[in-house]
Amino acid sequence: MACVSFPYDAPVSQTLFDRASLVTPGGVNSPVRAFRAVGGTPRFMVSGRGPYLTDADGREYVDLVCSWGPMILGHSHPEVIAAVQEAVARGTSFGTPGEGEVALAEEIVARIEPVEQVRLVSSGTEATMSAIRLARGFTGRAKVVKFAGCYHGHVDALLAAAGSGVATFGLPDTPGVTGAQAGDTIVLPYNDLDAVREAFAAHPGEIACVITEASPGNMGVVPPLDGFNAGLKELCSANGALYISDEVMTGFRTSKAGWYGVDGVRPDLMTFGKVMGGGFPAAAFGGRADVMAHLAPAGPVYQAGTLSGNPIATAAGLAQLRLLDDAAYAKVDAVSAEIRALVGEALTKEGVAHTVQAASNMFSVFFTDRPVRNYDQAKQQEAFRFTAFFHSMLSQGVYLPPSAFESWFVSTAHDTQAVERIAAALPAAARAASEATA
Ligand code: PLP
Repeated sequence: MACVSFPYDAPVSQTLFDRASLVTPGGVNSPVRAFRAVGGTPRFMVSGRGPYLTDADGREYVDLVCSWGPMILGHSHPEVIAAVQEAVARGTSFGTPGEGEVALAEEIVARIEPVEQVRLVSSGTEATMSAIRLARGFTGRAKVVKFAGCYHGHVDALLAAAGSGVATFGLPDTPGVTGAQAGDTIVLPYNDLDAVREAFAAHPGEIACVITEASPGNMGVVPPLDGFNAGLKELCSANGALYISDEVMTGFRTSKAGWYGVDGVRPDLMTFGKVMGGGFPAAAFGGRADVMAHLAPAGPVYQAGTLSGNPIATAAGLAQLRLLDDAAYAKVDAVSAEIRALVGEALTKEGVAHTVQAASNMFSVFFTDRPVRNYDQAKQQEAFRFTAFFHSMLSQGVYLPPSAFESWFVSTAHDTQAVERIAAALPAAARAASEATA
């Protein structure tokens, strides 16, 4: 990182970061926001409109993070804002059931055929944690299979070999997770069905579920090989385990019905978050009615939440989902393809080894010329080139995820003007990547 200079400063962000660092560990409320992987001062954003964010120093950026996925219509979409304003005027939380929750649940069930029943929660972490508990309660088994490089939130049992922030910081595991909490987690290499077969053979009758990102985006974008998800489902069914597809990132983003809409593999349980909350804390898990019937108060597996189904969050999520029709997805897919092509051209021109991988409109750039199929391969990329690339783009007003192990996200609001700004920034960024040294 010594090779990267920061020729542009951000004095107001720096002051805010200094203040934040006194009262908040690392100055941020979610680790990857801190820029530790790329160095420099994290930008404190004050507003967002369409494809743009404006920071506290008054600089505007084309946003290719989109709040890590949720903002698929861009920032401050007028219809989402209107729905929020209308909801907030009626009150912010009642602690009782409300019609908004029913409408959002109906929308999810209507879009995603394997989801017969759904429970709303407030974060993706809660969704996966609850889905795992339900799978264990339903099957009466303890063990959980997960894949290296897949991130399912900061659930104790699932923080083994997680991607995302954990990958960024190179933590093998996290202190605070006990052997008892992680001891029933079996971590396998991604895209390796033989490893799953062997795990079932080694632990007969013990595996409650296999949880996988429907198409991983937390080690960079590493789509499942043809037949991988179908193979997981088959192995789970054959061995009495549940197949849990984590669609917190892909849900309602990679198609109207998320990754299920792309590969058609029918999970027993699914988890959602991000897009379905319209920028508010709303998430969900759902699936087979006979499994969901085990959840309290219908069944014995306890799960609850003071703010679950919050009226503002459900209003925002519903407004966003209702705007996400086929035309919206076509638009996001098209702009994603355009940006991918531009990035590839710029890096090729500068002779930078790279592989751009996509799952529908989610994509990321690996600084290696080999296809990346699992976490070990993702870690072999020349991440120092990303650091140089990132800072060049940032200094030219393009905000990328501050880590080489994250997906880039676009929205329906990324128009020609935004794409032109990205295109204008790419040659210098590609040059910076080519000149970077480890
Ligand atoms: N699952 C996946 C696939 C995710 O990408 C994330 C977050 O990035 C989570 C779960 C956790 O969601 P949250 O950050 O809302 O807790």
